[in-house]
Amino acid sequence: MSALVAHQVRKVYQSGFEALKGIDLSVAEGDFFALLGPNGAGKSTFIGIITSLVNKTSGSVTVFGHDLDRAPQQVKSVIGVVPQEFNFNLFLPVQEVVINQAGYFGIPRHEARARAEFYLRKLDLWERREQQTRQLSGGLKRRLLIARALVHRPRLLILDEPTAGVDIEIRRAMWEYLRELNADGTTIILTTHYLEEAESLCRHIAIIHQGNLIARTNMATLLKEL
Ligand code: ADP
Ligand code: ADP
Repeated sequence: MSALVAHQVRKVYQSGFEALKGIDLSVAEGDFFALLGPNGAGKSTFIGIITSLVNKTSGSVTVFGHDLDRAPQQVKSVIGVVPQEFNFNLFLPVQEVVINQAGYFGIPRHEARARAEFYLRKLDLWERREQQTRQLSGGLKRRLLIARALVHRPRLLILDEPTAGVDIEIRRAMWEYLRELNADGTTIILTTHYLEEAESLCRHIAIIHQGNLIARTNMATLLKEL
């Protein structure tokens, strides 16, 4: 089954700027997929459309068989999103961020607490569960975003530049955790402009350039050709 099928996805912003010019892309279930491209290429716009943050102008998107236009709630329920920026309340205790997110997905409070503990331990944040999120460093905030994205057990995890501005040690720990998650069956799509990150993690990559998908390939094949 495909985790994601995008067909002729276009985005024209209010300004008249055409950020996506008809993207066709499919990602298989279980894949670890990187969307590469320079700043301004349209990566965040594409991710924004799949995660219901941006309305597409035309085209279709299907996630695990659910059509984004006809079944937006089903699409949301199978996706976990790790945004580029920290969009949580800075005065909320760390564990409440994860518990509240579970609440949005209708997970009962006792189950939400158990899951929050599980993911906060996994991401080495359990010791800091009572701290306000503003006390976390950049790398820890990023890990909290991952814990929050996983609490409803999404089949597809989407990360927008997950390790931008994160130091090398934390980056490697995050990579290791993402590999583990993928090995356990979660399909992962990330955007990055580090080729090294894509190389280290991903089985397939696609390159977006000025709103067009200009290449899609198997990472192993690409490395052989270089
Ligand atoms: P692998 O052989 O490692 O599984 P491939 O890169 O050959 O991977 O392609 C995996 C799947 O993605 C294939 O089913 C292929 O038809 C499909 N595919 C390849 N290129 C594209 C593309 N540009 N857009 C959508 N699907 C593609
Ligand atoms: P990337 O994530 O690859 O850096 P984006 O998807 O953020 O690219 O942006 C693609 C293009 O769309 C850029 O030229 C950007 O300036 C433009 N863009 C992004 N958001 C808006 C908006 N709200 N209105 C108009 N143009 C936008």
